[in-house]
Amino acid sequence: MDIVKELILASNNILLTTHTQLDGDAIGSLISLGLSILSLKKKAVLLAENPIPAIYRFLPKIEIISNSINDRINDFDAVIVLDCGDLERIGENIADITKIPVIINIDHHITNSKFGQINLIDVNASSTCEVVYKLIKFLGIKIDIDMAFAIYTGILTDTGSFRFSNTNCKAFEICQEMLNIGVDPHRVAQNIYGTYSLNSIKLLNRVLDSIEVSKNGKLSLMFLTKDMLKETQTKFEDVHGVINYAKYIEDVKVAVLIHENETNSVNKCGNEGKSLFHVSLRSNGSVDVSSIALKFGGGGHFDAAGFTICSSLFELKDQILKLSENF
Ligand code: 5GP
Ligand code: MN
Repeated sequence: MDIVKELILASNNILLTTHTQLDGDAIGSLISLGLSILSLKKKAVLLAENPIPAIYRFLPKIEIISNSINDRINDFDAVIVLDCGDLERIGENIADITKIPVIINIDHHITNSKFGQINLIDVNASSTCEVVYKLIKFLGIKIDIDMAFAIYTGILTDTGSFRFSNTNCKAFEICQEMLNIGVDPHRVAQNIYGTYSLNSIKLLNRVLDSIEVSKNGKLSLMFLTKDMLKETQTKFEDVHGVINYAKYIEDVKVAVLIHENETNSVNKCGNEGKSLFHVSLRSNGSVDVSSIALKFGGGGHFDAAGFTICSSLFELKDQILKLSENF
């Protein structure tokens, strides 16, 4: 932590970035640390490749996140990469980012590849926002209401509303402090969990209808295709958290969501009928899904992990259902 503090204090122009497929922890850590660095009267540019999902647009200062960099990449003294288990998670900007002389990697994933010159990784932290909170305190910065909303949102969403196994005392302590600063938990919950469009409920119906369970009952699998999104005029973010339904099924140890990427996959997968899929894995705590994800080139936590793969839906389903034989 000392060296991260020194580096931040010694830099004048810092780029902060996070992973594609933005979630609450990615956005929360980006905003809270970005605002903290700006409060030190330093230049900070906040970059996220993908658009901000609608449920997070209520966050104060969300507009300071941009999806492209106007500055010359050589002008940055350092880049802080948040909530990324490996550098590829950044997406298309990776080539530019690796040109910046100092990479500071701040994260909480057990599979983190320690790609930074400096790696501030706490695998016991509930979220990257928890690590960032401790860093902000260490920097001696007063947490204001805008930072507090961001930190609270990151912890709330990464712990699945204080239900997942990464929920710890510190998560509650920090959230209590954020409430004392003025965060309205009802407002956050209403924005993130309380608002659905009719079309997103129709999409939910389609995804739930795709659920199948392996022969031994230990693995459940659901999928979401580009066609489903087109037919219901929705986006993937409209059914965030849908994988939990597959996890709720009795006796299931591992739940899987196969999600066909919306981008054109011909560039990445060629023209042989294969598509680009993101596979999300969740475990009930008895199977280490991060080690499964690692084998497919991805990563994550013991009970929540993922990877991206070129395949046909049929082959991928078959391959994944077979995994259950080892549970
Ligand atoms: P999700 O299934 O929600 O995409 O991700 C679950 C967890 O696994 C998250 O903590 C996420 O960071 C991690 N994860 C998902 N996909 C990948 C991937 O392709 N590579 C790595 N390293 N981690 C991933
Ligand atoms: Mn996280």
